Amino acid sequence: MTVPETILCVDCDGIAHLLTSWAADTPPEPGSVLSYLCASCWERFDLVWEDQIDDD
Ligand SMILES: [Zn+2]
Repeated sequence: MTVPETILCVDCDGIAHLLTSWAADTPPEPGSVLSYLCASCWERFDLVWEDQIDDD
């Protein structure tokens, strides 16, 4: 799994860029908090990175 480096801003549909960084040998795990900053409205978003859930 890889962490998305950009997401769509929920406020303005701009591009929000990943702020969180980590050491190369300690990648984030599901449950880690990732911070994104929108380049258009400068809103900051903190998301909990969830592993994909199987419904079955
Ligand atoms: Zn925005």
